[in-house]
Amino acid sequence: MGSHVSKTVADELAPMQIIDGKSVDAVSGERINVVCPSDGQVFASIPASGKADIDQAVGAARHAFDEGPWARMPAVERGRCLTRLGQLVEKHADELAALESRDTGKPVRQGKADVTATMRYYEFYGGAADKIHGDTIPFLDGYTALTMREPHGVVAGIIPWNYPLQILARVAGAALAMGNTLVIKPAEDASLTAIRIAELALEAGIPGGVFNVVTGYGREAGAALSAHPLVDYVTFTGSPPTGTAIQQAAAANNRGVTMELGGKSPQIVFADADIEAALPVLVNAIIQNGGQTCSAGSRILIEKPVYEQVASALSERFSGLVAGPHEADLDLGALINPAQKQRVEDFVAAAEEAGISVLARGRVHEDAPKGGYYHPPVLFGAVDPASALAQEEVFGPVLALFPFADEPDAVRLANDTDFGLVAGIWTRDGARQHRMAKRVRAGQVFVNGYGAGGGIELPFGGFKKSGHGREKGFEALYDMSATKTVVFNHG
Ligand code: ADP
Repeated sequence: MGSHVSKTVADELAPMQIIDGKSVDAVSGERINVVCPSDGQVFASIPASGKADIDQAVGAARHAFDEGPWARMPAVERGRCLTRLGQLVEKHADELAALESRDTGKPVRQGKADVTATMRYYEFYGGAADKIHGDTIPFLDGYTALTMREPHGVVAGIIPWNYPLQILARVAGAALAMGNTLVIKPAEDASLTAIRIAELALEAGIPGGVFNVVTGYGREAGAALSAHPLVDYVTFTGSPPTGTAIQQAAAANNRGVTMELGGKSPQIVFADADIEAALPVLVNAIIQNGGQTCSAGSRILIEKPVYEQVASALSERFSGLVAGPHEADLDLGALINPAQKQRVEDFVAAAEEAGISVLARGRVHEDAPKGGYYHPPVLFGAVDPASALAQEEVFGPVLALFPFADEPDAVRLANDTDFGLVAGIWTRDGARQHRMAKRVRAGQVFVNGYGAGGGIELPFGGFKKSGHGREKGFEALYDMSATKTVVFNHG
């Protein structure tokens, strides 16, 4: 977490937020220190905004929606703006990737992958903008009935710190394609690329007031935004308790919400699987972004005849994993902040105290700066399915293994948490692939593969406590719009 600093503390990088097409500081003049997780050093600051700034930004977005050209612009023109934004992301790819990695501590190759996905989101939604349409409905004689998709109006997007560029892009791409205007509140731990994207949006021709970015703490700027009466729809990705608070705030105004609240996603390895093909995917699904991924594959269910084989192959791989600074581009970077590191340490300590065996542990690179927030990867097995480690999201590089007896047992274990975001199924048996895909309760199911965070074309969202609503792909355009039914009586 950052701390307040006065504006006079000279930082190397001190961008303003973007409200109504202009770069502006917080009304209070206060700023938040930005720390690089790789070394714990302050390298920038952002405005510490609150209710007054949110009022301005929502007012600008409201005006841009009600009076501006954006919502009435031909869809193809809105799409072209988004496509140009994607091209600008590509043009500034190195700058954005470096900024994202420094702000979040993620390895540079992950920062680059995030920029590629970001570019693709704007490209995808740029192309989709004029391809969504309504229906005509057979109705009574003498009538013509039709539906059209209309924007909600002002969309509030509250963005987490794990994939700031990508999650902003999936929200902004879909919302803007449908003609909404936006107020974005990025996470206080990772706001720098959001500010940069809002600047590039102006350069792409998106009118001022359409794409506003307000930085600040969740409990101040975030709370003011989610409760704002002039906001029409709220979309949030983050932790379940914060999601509950945001839904309660939005409920006071009876506003719609999209909630993406994380998971405890299983990968299920049957004895007939191509285990060699599965192993790197099983490891990557929990190591990517240091395990700070909503769709991290944090549980592996292994059929008993191959449990020892898979557990020992994973142990070997885990022992060789190394965490280090983002520039070093090792297996994983630092965690986002000291609180997150503490949370992971507490989970690991509690699991060890509960008698769960550590099968393997990676290491932190000897040369990693001492002030960085590193945690080595840890592999646990066999884990009690009722334990906290089996049930709760750690959001760190901690993997839990579980043996299972047969297919019904695998289904039961896979569905035995409050979450339901993603699942991976590894088997060569085609009929079983289909049965498992149907029975596992998850918003995305991968068969003989896994996609932690990828797939901009693929609808994504949760069952159960993982949330509701769908993002990504064409489906997100429905969440970011409402159906209007029009009935003509022409006799
Ligand atoms: P973490 O606890 O790891 O910071 P959160 O899910 O709380 O993760 O944060 C995700 C986003 O939600 C961030 O942009 C944060 O500022 C914002 N946020 C946190 N608390 C609130 C709140 N009470 N109301 C609105 N937004 C919030």
